[in-house]
This record gives sequence, structure tokens and C-alpha cells, in this order.
Amino acid sequence: MTYIEDRRKWYSGQGFWKNVPESKWKDWSWQLRNRITKLEQLEELIDLTDEERDGCSHANNKLAMAITPYFFNLIDREDPNCPVRKQVIPRAGEMVVTTDEMLDPVGEDSHSPVPGLVHRYPDRVLFLVTDRCAAYCRYCTRSRLVSNAQDYNFSPSLEQGLEYIRNHPEVRDVLLSGGDPLLLSDNKLDYLLGELRKIEHVEFIRIGSRIPVFLPQRITPSLCDVFKKHGPIWVSIHTNHPKECTQEVKDACERLSFAGVPLGNQSVLLKDVNDDADVMKALVHRLVRMRVRPYYIYQCDLITGSSHLRADLRKGIEIMRELRGHTTGYAVPQFVIDAPNGGGKVPINPEYIVKIDDEAIHFKNFEGKLYRYPLKAGAPVEEAEAQFGPEEIVM
Ligand SMILES: *Cc1c(COP(=O)(O)O)cnc(C)c1O
Ligand code: SF4
Repeated sequence: MTYIEDRRKWYSGQGFWKNVPESKWKDWSWQLRNRITKLEQLEELIDLTDEERDGCSHANNKLAMAITPYFFNLIDREDPNCPVRKQVIPRAGEMVVTTDEMLDPVGEDSHSPVPGLVHRYPDRVLFLVTDRCAAYCRYCTRSRLVSNAQDYNFSPSLEQGLEYIRNHPEVRDVLLSGGDPLLLSDNKLDYLLGELRKIEHVEFIRIGSRIPVFLPQRITPSLCDVFKKHGPIWVSIHTNHPKECTQEVKDACERLSFAGVPLGNQSVLLKDVNDDADVMKALVHRLVRMRVRPYYIYQCDLITGSSHLRADLRKGIEIMRELRGHTTGYAVPQFVIDAPNGGGKVPINPEYIVKIDDEAIHFKNFEGKLYRYPLKAGAPVEEAEAQFGPEEIVM
């Protein structure tokens, strides 16, 4: 497969909502109020496949469907294989549960000392501050708790989470996630970030959010002021395909960046969406042009009902091989597996080392050529010259 795109152009939607005044379109609360959440609404807008119709009628028992009008606009209505479409429109494959799949694939619940807080690594915590998102990704690793479709009883308590962090001086890094933290009001975020900043041992605060991509209108000047006030706040956005890199997203990233927010991106490797080196290369190139540093590509977690979306891990390795050295180092993310049952994120790399012993390391470069780097200091040149004569020494 070759992916060809017009690099000069930033993507834009298809304009199904031509009758909506711009003032409404650009208003994030209008976008939220007008989300597509029901099969009947979808059918008015798009010809669904049987698979999709089936998926939609069961979605609400697993992970609710919700799509912002803005994001829906990026779907190619003529193409059932549209990479944007597959991320947010449920398909029948979601009802298929395979033997390795789990409700909590990365063992978050067992590493959770208080509700909504996961303390897996020594110096940092994951703080789930809401169970709602602007739209729902069909492969979401937290399907058990986001959107409140399952009987999970998620009741995150900001106060309990804050108290835990206050009482644990080893926590120097707090990652706010959910759900999507940017669905909280500016006031609530201001309070939460302010409380975290008061904790002396918290050095690093970051937010994982797909809002800049699902709802770029939410990145308002007043939200940016909150980030400025408590900065540096790092933000990881979540894009999977270059088509998500629209002018609106680029503008939202610019607003964040100008407010002093360093930006990263996380992608999930998805079958027939982005498990292809040309697509990933186009994506990472767009990201760096939007001031976003590609951070992680995740092998899709073994979440219940995701087999139709999980890509072959070897494609991920191949993608990494085709990025490293072939393009800007800043544009190359790290491919990781979040180890099942709570082992944490582990890098999965193409093999560059051919042999390593006390003498030397033998390794391949990005073109597959072999190189050797000695690990032992050689003899001083004068000694070697005395033994062999200068013309015999190859430097
Ligand atoms: C991903 C994750 C983090 C952050 O990991 P980094 O590699 O530092 O980005 C922290 N805690 C949990 C539970 C996580 O899943
Ligand atoms: S935005 Fe994140 S938390 Fe929300 S559905 Fe998508 S992957 Fe899950």
C-alpha cells in the first residue's frame, strides 16, 4: 500500500453541517450538545454497513457511541474503510471476545490504591479525573469505565487522589487522564492544577487528552490561560492518522504551544487504519509541523472486543525500522507494549545489535549495513608502530 497525500494541504471536513452558523460550529458546548450518539442519527447522515449497524445497536452495553460533529465531518461517507470512521463508528467485531482479551488489560485496578489513581511506576501516578470523553474510541483500553456503559461504578474522587499524592513524596510526576480531563471546566482544571502545584514534591504535570483532536474548539484562550498560570503543563494528544491533522487541530496545537504547553502525541497501532509505514510517516511529519513531538505508538491493548482493530505487532516493528534514520529523529516515536497485567510500558524495537561481546559490538545501521565499534581500548599507536611499522596500521 502506498499512501499519497497533498502535503501542502491541511485536511478539512466534508461540510455536512453547512446550515450551522460558524459561531455555533466553533462553540465547543454546541459541538458536545450535538454529538451523534444514536444509530438513528447516524443513519440520517451516512450509509452504514451491516457490520456497523450491528455494532451500533450493541455499543451501549460496552462503550457508548459518541462522535462530535466536527470529527464526524472528517469521515469519508463513501468509504467503509475510512480510517477515521473505523475509530469511532462501532462494528460488529466489538461483540467478539477472544481468549486473551480482558476488561482491564493492563491491570490498572490492581495497582489502584484509591479510586481513580493508578500507582504503577516508582515516581509517577496516573490520575483518572473523569470517565467521560468528547467522543469514544472503539479500542479504548479503559472501555470498562469510560462512558459509563458498563456496570463499573467508577467514582473518581479528586480529593482522595490529591490526598494520596500529598502523602506520597516519591510522586514527582502526575499524569491526568480519564476519560478526558479537558472536559472539566476551566475552573475545575484551575483548581486541580493549582492544588497539584502546591505539592512541593510534584515536579511534573501532564495531561493525556484527545480533545484537541475530537473537539479542537475546546482549546479556548481562557483554557490556555489556565495552562499558562500553572505551567509548565505538558499535553499528550492522541492522533492515529494524518487525516486527523486538520487546520483546526493545527490551530489548537498552536494556541497550546503559545501558552507554553509542550506537546506530544500518542498513537495506537490499528489494523487497516495506521499499520502502515507510509501512513505513519505522513502522520509524524504532520505532527512535527503542528509543534507536536511523536511520543508513543502503542501496540493495541488486549481490551475486550478489539480483535478486529488490533494490528500485527510485527507491522509496528517494521514501521519503526522504516522511520528511524529515514526521517527526522524528532519525528520518530517509541513503539511500546503496555505489558498485560500491569508490567508497564516496554519498548519494542527492531533489532540493530548483531553481536556484542567483550571485544566489540557489531550492529546494523538504518540501511542494514554492518558496523563494528570496539569495546576494548586498542594499543597505543607508538607501541603498535614499533611492532608493525606505520604503514601496516589501519586506523
Ligand atoms: C503510561 C503510564 C504512565 C506514564 O508513563 P510514561 O512512560 O512516563 O509516559 C504512568 N502511569 C501509568 C499507570 C501509565 O499507564
Ligand atoms: S479519548 Fe482516550 S479515554 Fe476517551 S475513549 Fe478515546 S482512548 Fe478512551
